[in-house]
Amino acid sequence: MKKPPITEITGAAVNESSGWLNAPLPKLDDVEGEKIPSNLPWIVDAHVHLFPDEIFASVWQWFDKYGWPIRYKMRASEVIEFLFSKQVGNIVALHYAHKPGIARMLNAYMAGICSRYPRVIGMATVFPGEKDAAGILEEGFEQGLSGVKLHAHVQCFEIESAAMQEVYSVCIHYNKPLIMHIGREPKSPAYPCDPYEICSADRLERVLKTHPDLKACVPHLGADEFDDYRRMIEAYDNLWLDTTMTLAQYLSVDWSPDLSAFRPDRIMYGSDFPNLPYAWDRELKRLCSMDLPADSLAMLLGKNAAEFYSITRERRLMNSENLERNL
Ligand SMILES: [Zn+2]
Repeated sequence: MKKPPITEITGAAVNESSGWLNAPLPKLDDVEGEKIPSNLPWIVDAHVHLFPDEIFASVWQWFDKYGWPIRYKMRASEVIEFLFSKQVGNIVALHYAHKPGIARMLNAYMAGICSRYPRVIGMATVFPGEKDAAGILEEGFEQGLSGVKLHAHVQCFEIESAAMQEVYSVCIHYNKPLIMHIGREPKSPAYPCDPYEICSADRLERVLKTHPDLKACVPHLGADEFDDYRRMIEAYDNLWLDTTMTLAQYLSVDWSPDLSAFRPDRIMYGSDFPNLPYAWDRELKRLCSMDLPADSLAMLLGKNAAEFYSITRERRLMNSENLERNL
């Protein structure tokens, strides 16, 4: 598949050489649903961002200036209560340290959220290569965090570096999943490094081969190397993908992935809530309109995330609504 243009709906300037996010994109005033339809199976939103207030504020400032206007400027507790009020069953909560020295604080914050909201599955973060990186992650796991989240565009790491070997070793040792944004898109010239220089499906393939016990998830279906990632989930049992923002026809109206062509037990639904320029359920609606077989849909919406993030049955059943859904 070729890299799609940014779209007619956005009217944004397109510069083929500098990625999808070459200019700030507009807000969409699409209608939001009241809640998840009751005929759908149990749902995990496997890609939700939670930060302390002041970090959320600077993330939104960045998005407003370089990305897209954030429709849901909510504090972490409001994000969780909003999604649960819509009948989302469980939330996988992500954050990342944009510089060394703050990961311990972020992880303690996330662990506090998970103990208040047991249906939230929180990830730990670290700045790869920072002092005591392994110790920071171990502490996060001891505090109850369920995996690791990293973002190459913000943290500028190279996935075959010694710093990343350390992260892989800790994840493997503690049998924790690693979700890392290492696709090249959506690239912004405002990022501190060029994702096209540090990210590629080839590099990940070498890491998967040399680390067969590492469980990795690449968000955004590996954008924009979709074909490579689709092939790699067939070839490597230790690779998962999430759909986040690739189905909503916002970053690209031209690219409509045929999810039925992807290995169904390796794709997870994720929204990127609350950092969205459109309705909270836009991606979900598109996913459900794809006429996937019922068992594939149940895997994509919840079962795959339960397997990847080891979401216990107990944590799934904390919402009484889930009792009626297909767990
Ligand atoms: Zn995200």
